[in-house]
Amino acid sequence: MSAETPAKKELAAIKGTKDILPGEVEVWQAVEAETRRLVELYGYRELRTPIIEPTELFEKGTGETSDIVTKEMYTFTDKGGRSITLRPEYTPSMARAILEHRLDLLPEPMRYYYIGPMFRYDKPQKGRYRQFHQLDIEVFNEKDPAIDAEIIEMADALLRTLGVEGTETLVNSVGCRACRPAYSRDLRSHAEKVRDRLCPDCRRKIATNPLRIFDCKVEGCREQAALFPKITATLCQECREHFARVCSYLDLYKVAYRVEPNLVRGLDYYTKTTFEIISGGLGAQNALLGGGRYDDMMKDFGGPDICGIGFAMGVERLISVLQIRPERKTVLYIAHMGDAGKRKGLELARFFRRNGVESLVEFGSKGFKAQFGRANKLGAAWVLVIGEDEIRKGLYQLKDMAAGTQTEGTPEDLLKIIQDKKI
Ligand SMILES: [Zn+2]
Ligand SMILES: [Zn+2]
Repeated sequence: MSAETPAKKELAAIKGTKDILPGEVEVWQAVEAETRRLVELYGYRELRTPIIEPTELFEKGTGETSDIVTKEMYTFTDKGGRSITLRPEYTPSMARAILEHRLDLLPEPMRYYYIGPMFRYDKPQKGRYRQFHQLDIEVFNEKDPAIDAEIIEMADALLRTLGVEGTETLVNSVGCRACRPAYSRDLRSHAEKVRDRLCPDCRRKIATNPLRIFDCKVEGCREQAALFPKITATLCQECREHFARVCSYLDLYKVAYRVEPNLVRGLDYYTKTTFEIISGGLGAQNALLGGGRYDDMMKDFGGPDICGIGFAMGVERLISVLQIRPERKTVLYIAHMGDAGKRKGLELARFFRRNGVESLVEFGSKGFKAQFGRANKLGAAWVLVIGEDEIRKGLYQLKDMAAGTQTEGTPEDLLKIIQDKKI
C-alpha cells in the first residue's frame, strides 16, 4: 500500500470494537485457558451458539422492560427481511439451544459454559465496547440451593486462581413470582412519593419495573433507593428458606460474602438468588461478574419447567484488573547459509516443531551476523546455526542466547538440551 493511501481512515475498526493484538492476546489466552480448566473441574461443558439470533429471542428472554432490550440491542434486517440481533447476552441463546436439541432429556448434568463476544449498541466509553466478551456459566434443572453456593464458590475460586485480589462477594434474594409482586407494589408506592427526586430513567421505571431503580448509578437515585423497603423482609417462606441455605453452604465453603438487599441486577428474569463479585479497583462500575437464578425462564420460552442459574463475567473488565502480563518470545531461530543450508533449516524446523519446539527459519538470504541480529530482536532463546561444515558433519551449533554458550550436536542431542532447559 502506498504512503498516500489513507488506509487508516477508510478502513478502521467499527466504532466500539477493538482489535486484540499479539502482545495483549496472550493475556486473553491465559485467562481463557485457566477458566476452561477450572470450570471443567466442576463438570461444566462448553456450549457454543451462533453470534446472530432472531430478535424475538431476546425480547422474550431478556424481558421487555430491561435496558438491554429497550436501548442497547444491535439489531438489523437481513436480506431475507428477518430481524436479526447480535446476541447482547448469552443466557437466552443457551436456553434456545437446550430446547432445540432437547439437552434436558440427556442423562448428563446440565452444566454449560461459553467464552466469547457479545454485542450492545451502547454509547462507547472508556472500558465499554459494543463488541465485548463474556464468560457465561449456566446450570439448568438444579433446584437445590447447594448449586447457588457452588457457583458462587466457583466464581470466587476462578478470580483467585487468576490472581484477582480485593474483591467482595454480594448476595441477595429477589424473591419469586409468589412474593415479588407485593414487594413491587410496595416499592412503586414508595418511589411514587419521591418521583421528583429521581432521574427521568427511574421515573419511567416506576411504572415498568420499580426494582430496577436499584440499578441506577445516579447519586440522587441511589440516595432515595437506600431508603426504600428491603425485599428481604417480604420474601415468601420458600424463598426465605432457600436463601438461608445458600448462605449456610457459603459458610461451609468459607466464602466471604455480604448480604446486599439492594442487589436486584438489571435483568427481569431473576428469581431468588442474585449475586455479584465486585472489585475495589474499578470505581462505580465495579462488578467483575454477576448472576443469579432464573427459575421461570425456560417455561416462559415455551419449554419444560426447569429452573436455571448462572453468571456472566466481563472479560475486558477482568483483564483490566489482572496483574499477569505473559509475553511470548520466539523459542528457536534457525540461521543458515546457502541453498543447502536453507533446505536443511526447513527440514530441521519441521523436526523441532514436531517435537513441540516453536521454530522460525529465516527465508531470505542474509549473512549470519544479520540473522543473529534478527534473532536478538525477536528475543529468541536459542539459535541453531547451519553452515556447510554442519551439513557435512550432520552436527549443528546451538547457541543459548541468554548464557552466550554454544553446543554442537545432532538434532536429537540439541532437542534434548532445549527440552531440558524448558523444565
Ligand atoms: Zn418467593
Ligand atoms: Zn435514576
